[in-house]
Formats: sequence, structure tokens, C-alpha cells
Amino acid sequence: MDCIFCKIIKGEIPSKKHYEDDRMLIFEDVSPKANLHYLAVPKHHYATIDNMNEQDQEDIGYILKKIADLKDMLGLTNGYRLTINQGESAGQTVHHLHIHIMGGQNLGWTDFRKQ
Ligand code: AMP
Repeated sequence: MDCIFCKIIKGEIPSKKHYEDDRMLIFEDVSPKANLHYLAVPKHHYATIDNMNEQDQEDIGYILKKIADLKDMLGLTNGYRLTINQGESAGQTVHHLHIHIMGGQNLGWTDFRKQ
């Protein structure tokens, strides 16, 4: 499968990993949109939440709890934002489900209607 995140999971292309276990990986986004910008990915490949099976649903809860447990280690003690882009109009470019984790600054809030 020609999926860049599957290749990162398999170690076929490099990434700056901050956490890994048998279900998930957290690594730095190569093109950060905040002072701190990580991606949390399930190891099981699927594109969007529409495609989740029962195990995927469990894994997402597990991943969210893991992010909370690791927030200090990731430098996110004062808060962070989680984003999942779903599909074309949201700008999803990598079709392996991933959670953007952004922080390390005050993030503000964007009114997308002004774009
Ligand atoms: P999305 O637009 O929600 O699909 O997000 C995909 C994200 O993956 C973007 O923020 C990219 O900067 C990031 N990305 C793409 N390729 C890599 C890579 N090789 N290593 C780390 N992040 C990547």
C-alpha cells in the first residue's frame, strides 16, 4: 500500500517519533502549523472515521487517553488543540487517519468564513 504514514509506521521513511506502542505512533509533523505540531496515528490503516471498525473505535479512545497522559512530555501542559481533517473540503491530504496535536503557544480561534 502506497501510504506515507504506513511507511513511517514500518520505519521505511524517517520521522521524529515521540511515542510508539503496538497500537499507535506520535511523531512530529514535517510541516508544522504551530510551535509544537505532532501527529498521532493508529497503526491500523483506514482513511476517515467513516471507515472505523470496532477495534478502530477502541483504539481512538486509547489514543486520546495516551495524548492526555503524554501532554507534559510533549510540552503541552498549558493546553493543546486536536484536529482531524476528514475529506476533501477539510483539506485532508494523507488518507490514513491522523490526529493533529498542536500547541506550544496561544492558538487563538479562526473564523473560517473569512477565508
Ligand atoms: P492532513 O492535511 O490533515 O491530511 O494532514 C497531513 C499532515 O501530514 C500534514 O500536516 C503534513 O505536513 C504531514 N506530513 C506529510 N508527510 C509527512 C511526513 N513524511 N512526516 C511527517 N508529517 C508529514
